[in-house]
Amino acid sequence: MRYISTRGLTEPVGFSEAVAIGLAPDGGLYLPETLPQFSEADLRRFETLDYSELCFEFLRRFATDIPSETLRGLVAKSYTTFSDSAIAPLKELSKNLHVLELFHGPTLAFKDFALQLLGNLYGNQCSRRSESINVLGATSGDTGAAAIHGLLGKPGTAIFILYPDGRVSPLQERQMACTGAVNVFALAVDGSFDDAQTSLKEIFGDQKFRQQHRLSAVNSVNIARVLAQSVYYLYAFLRLPATTRAETEFVVPTGNFGNVLAGWLLQKMGVPLRSFKVATNQNDILYRLFNSGDYRVSAVAPSLAPSMDIQVSSNFERFLYLSVGGDAAKVRDVMQTFKTTGGYQFENFNRDTLSASRCTDAQIPGIIRSVYERFGYILDPHTACGFSDLAKDRPSVVLATASPAKFPETIISAIGIEPKDSSLEKLKTLPVKKYLLKTDVVSIRSFIEQHAV
Ligand SMILES: *Cc1c(COP(=O)(O)O)cnc(C)c1O
Repeated sequence: MRYISTRGLTEPVGFSEAVAIGLAPDGGLYLPETLPQFSEADLRRFETLDYSELCFEFLRRFATDIPSETLRGLVAKSYTTFSDSAIAPLKELSKNLHVLELFHGPTLAFKDFALQLLGNLYGNQCSRRSESINVLGATSGDTGAAAIHGLLGKPGTAIFILYPDGRVSPLQERQMACTGAVNVFALAVDGSFDDAQTSLKEIFGDQKFRQQHRLSAVNSVNIARVLAQSVYYLYAFLRLPATTRAETEFVVPTGNFGNVLAGWLLQKMGVPLRSFKVATNQNDILYRLFNSGDYRVSAVAPSLAPSMDIQVSSNFERFLYLSVGGDAAKVRDVMQTFKTTGGYQFENFNRDTLSASRCTDAQIPGIIRSVYERFGYILDPHTACGFSDLAKDRPSVVLATASPAKFPETIISAIGIEPKDSSLEKLKTLPVKKYLLKTDVVSIRSFIEQHAV
C-alpha cells in the first residue's frame, strides 16, 4: 500500500515513511492510494475478535511494509496500557442511545488510541534503523498528553509539545509536565494554539532543519492516527444490535475533524455506517462549513471543551480531497485561497453523509445535568457537545472522548459531584516541569536545536 499527498506534488511513499514524515513535503496530508474494501464476510469474521486482534486485522491492510508478526506485537502492546478490558466499551443509555467510551487509556482521552500505537511504531522504526527521532507537536489539551504518554522513556526519541500557557486545564498540564521522563519537553508558549500551529507549520516547511533533526509531526495529520481511530468505529459497529446497526448515526465531538474523518473513511471502505454528526463546541468552523459551505476562520473563543477550541480543522483537507474525487489541483486551490484570505466559499459543498451541530458553553452544564438526571451517567464537557442536537427518530452512538475526571470544575458546577480517577489523583502530588517559551519560529527552533536527540 502506498500513500499519496492530498496536494499531489509529492512522490507516493510506503506506510512507515508516511508515518515517519507526518505532513507531506508539499504541505498536503497523506492518504492511502486506494481504500481497501471490507466485505460482509470480513465483517462477520471480525465479530468475534477482541479489540487488539481487530485492530491488527484492520491495520495490516495499510501497514503492508511491516512484517505481520511485528505489527501484531506492536498493536497488542499498544492496548495493554488501557484500564478497561473491552478497550472501547459500548455503554447503552437507552434503546436508541449508546455511548462509546474512548477514555480508558493512560491519559483518559480518546487520543490514546492512536498515540499509544504511534509511539510503538516510532520506537520500532528507531530500533530497526538505529536512528533517533524528534517528535514535535502543538496541542490545545489532550493531544500533547497522549503523545507524551505514547513516547515516554522510549530510547532514541524526544518529544516537544507546545501548548498555550494557561489555556489547558491544570490536570491536562500535569499529564504533560509531571512525567519525570528526560525525553519529554512540555513547552508552555505565550500565544494561542493556532499561533503555535502556524509556527510549527513553518518549521516543518524548512526541509533542511526537518531532516537535520529527523523531525516528525504528532498532531492529528499523521495518517497512522486516523487509521488507528477508524478501528473503534468498526468495533462499536460490530457490537451494536444487528437490527439497528445500519440505522445508527455516529455523533462525534470534533475540532480538527480527525475523529470524524476516521469513521467516514471506514464507511468509504465498505463498512455500512449510516451517517455522522460533526459536533462542535462554540468554535464552530465545521458547523458553519457543513451548513453553509463557507469554510472560514474566526477568533478562537476559549470554551469549557478546550480540546475542541480549534479554528482550522487540518484533517478537513483529507475529506476535501476524497469528496472532489482526488482532484489535487482543486485541493491546492482551496487551501491556497483559504491561507491567503482566511476563507473559502464552496459553490456546491458535498456533505456526503455528514451533518453538523454546535454547542455553546451556556448549554454544556445543562446537558451534563440532564443526562445525569435521566441516565445516571456523567459526561465530560466534550462529550456533552455531542448531546446538543441528538436525532429523535433513529439510534445514535455518541463518542465519549474524555473522562469527566479530567474536567472536575465543570462537572462540579453542573451536578455538584466531583468525578475522580486514581491516576489523576496521583499526578497531583508530582512536581511540574515545563519550559516557558515565546511562540515565534526562532525561539522554538533554538529550543529544539538545544534539546534534540
Ligand atoms: C482532541 C479532542 C477532541 C477533538 O478531536 P479531533 O481530532 O479534533 O476530532 C474532542 N474531545 C477530546 C476530549 C479531545 O481530546
